[in-house]
Amino acid sequence: MHRVETISRTLLAASLLSVGLIVLALVMPDVGGLGARPTPDAAVSSVTSAITQPLVLIALGLAGVLALLSGAAAGSRPLSSAVSPKLPALSSNASLPQRLAATRAAIAAALTPSSSGEQVLDVLLEGAVRCETSDIHVQPTPEGAEVTFRVDGQLEPITSLSGASLTSLTNRLKVVAKLVHYKSDAPQDGQFSLPVSAGTVDLRLSLLPTQHGEKAVLRLTGLGRRVPTLDDLGLSARDRALIDRFLSKPQGILYFTGPVGSGKTTSIYGALQHLRTSRGGNAQIASIEDPIELTLPHAAQTQVNRAAGLDFASGLRAILRQDPNIIVVGEIRDAETAGIAVQAGLTGHLILTTVHADSSAGVFNRLLEMGIEPSILSSVSLASVSQRLVRRLCADCRAPAAPTADQARRLGATASSKTFYRGVGCERCGGTGFVGRAAVFEILEMSPALREALRTAPSTQALLDLAKKEGTVLLFDAAVACAAEGLTTLEEAFRVAG
Ligand SMILES: [Zn+2]
Repeated sequence: MHRVETISRTLLAASLLSVGLIVLALVMPDVGGLGARPTPDAAVSSVTSAITQPLVLIALGLAGVLALLSGAAAGSRPLSSAVSPKLPALSSNASLPQRLAATRAAIAAALTPSSSGEQVLDVLLEGAVRCETSDIHVQPTPEGAEVTFRVDGQLEPITSLSGASLTSLTNRLKVVAKLVHYKSDAPQDGQFSLPVSAGTVDLRLSLLPTQHGEKAVLRLTGLGRRVPTLDDLGLSARDRALIDRFLSKPQGILYFTGPVGSGKTTSIYGALQHLRTSRGGNAQIASIEDPIELTLPHAAQTQVNRAAGLDFASGLRAILRQDPNIIVVGEIRDAETAGIAVQAGLTGHLILTTVHADSSAGVFNRLLEMGIEPSILSSVSLASVSQRLVRRLCADCRAPAAPTADQARRLGATASSKTFYRGVGCERCGGTGFVGRAAVFEILEMSPALREALRTAPSTQALLDLAKKEGTVLLFDAAVACAAEGLTTLEEAFRVAG
């Protein structure tokens, strides 16, 4: 669009200049050796043209120079500012609630009901990047659309769009993602990259027909979402030492489990960052994911594409031919993938994967159900990590709070004597009492006793009981410990692990 604009201005300038030169040649044949012969017509009109045409020439020449100058100026401006309003700068140490509030206000000021799709997209992306948004939802309504950002796992209302802006935005998205423009009655997805002021943002687009029009969800996979490190996970010193130990093993499988949005992928990316640092050039990292949530600079990430016959199993097989030593399998949910992953884990590969289960111990029964032999599972497994996310108390305004009678009953005698906290609300947390989230972990390490037990395919409860004896801190206790440290409230602890 901007290129076209610049080119057309340059063409306009060039044509104006050439018209000027032609007129010059006709009127003043002797000037500059242009050499056109005087014609009778020119001679007849020479009296009038001698007065008027130099003025025309000057005007045309000036217009040409001006057009060239404005074309050059347009070309030198950054891509997104030529047509789209810029969001005002934010203070760099603003908390997330403050950044969200400022971004909402800036987007409201930048857009009007007649804003074009291009302007809307530029402004939304700029805002999404500064709020470290993972997904932008554009939900059609009878009036237009509601835009929400998923930030830190929570959906945050951002702005409303007019019907005209929504139509223009949907068209713009189809153009940049190279989708079928006229199709609006079938799901479509694609990916693209666009410039924002901080660099280039990578996006995956999903369009789905709804009763009010096509709903668009944009996932930001690159810029704006810093790749997490293990330090970001808020692991206790003990848990961190455990994870470090698992990641130092040359082979075996490390499982992560938890509901959707429990931060499993964040943990895996944090672990990969650690592996990259601790092993340097010896970390050949490959992944098969669905979807790729973040772009990692030093890993070969492959997206599942079932339409092209690329699923977890076939992707994993292909990855194994590429000589990696660290492999991420986005999810093990079928016998074929489980079988290949186990073989890989027994033959010199460190595998990080997720399995859907209710607890760390529940992972093993899921894999047994997929047909993995108990003795093989016992040999290949390193550890299983179950995790949940709790809202993190704002450190600026948290205050001690005694447990209620009901909470004290659930805590039992020992924990009820501890101090817990609540969020009061202040400017930094936008009055909510919370800033960001913290992860709570249940980490089951395969001790010799657990390995021995796993060979007999025990029940999940029997494994959990044994794990507790062997030193695993169960999720409930880990969540209560998190509350006792003042990281979160008891309500949050019970919500995720009650
Ligand atoms: Zn606060």
